Amino acid sequence: MYFESHAHFDDKRFKDDREELLELLPSCGIDYVINVGCDVKSSKESIRLAERYDYIFAAVGIHPHELYDMSSKTIEELRRLSEHKKVVAIGEIGLDYYYDTHPRELQQFWFRQQLRLAESVNKPVIIHSRDASQETFDIIAASNVRRGSIHCYSGAAPMAMEYAKMGFYIGIGGVITFSNAKKLIEVVEALPLEKILIETDSPYLAPAPSRGKRNDSRNLEYIVNKIAKIKQTTPEFVAEITGNNAKNLFF
Ligand SMILES: [Zn+2]
Repeated sequence: MYFESHAHFDDKRFKDDREELLELLPSCGIDYVINVGCDVKSSKESIRLAERYDYIFAAVGIHPHELYDMSSKTIEELRRLSEHKKVVAIGEIGLDYYYDTHPRELQQFWFRQQLRLAESVNKPVIIHSRDASQETFDIIAASNVRRGSIHCYSGAAPMAMEYAKMGFYIGIGGVITFSNAKKLIEVVEALPLEKILIETDSPYLAPAPSRGKRNDSRNLEYIVNKIAKIKQTTPEFVAEITGNNAKNLFF
């Protein structure tokens, strides 16, 4: 019933009960999961999970926090990994000016290189952007990539509409359930449901009733319920449309 468009079940916070949890999720209404890589190791780990579980698919990419060993060899390795039949996207890639783990010019450089990789292997992208809304938008707009998810979107409504016009989907996660979610609520109000994906970013960003705890895809329910309330429709309809959107994008 739910298409989880962004999770990290390879994360060490799942080390004690990963198998148990991943066996359980389909019986909790989780039909599909995209497990998203942040570096080479977690990209490989995502593929391993996708090989093991039918409902899991993988994205491979280097997160802007993880550029330590980044080189043209890394890009070639990602290219090789992306040939796997269960790899459906390049991600997560982008800019993070909040933590500023690496110089901004370096982040921009490898972001552009990975967009080019996505273009050349003809896969959609999964974008991470924090405190860098305009720069992220400008780099994507200047690229030839026109398919992807703007994961855990944190920008304003007009930019979300611009992304939608360019062909991108907007990923809505647990933040929509927080009491200070005014800006994100405006985004959901403005966007047609046909442009929205649902995601948990597990183990991060648990929605309101579990805020601060380890997150997993079962919490999609809270996100879907909140979107349904904003859109004045049923949770079932939100789950169906966002599921179709994700299938269109990734399959
Ligand atoms: Zn993520």
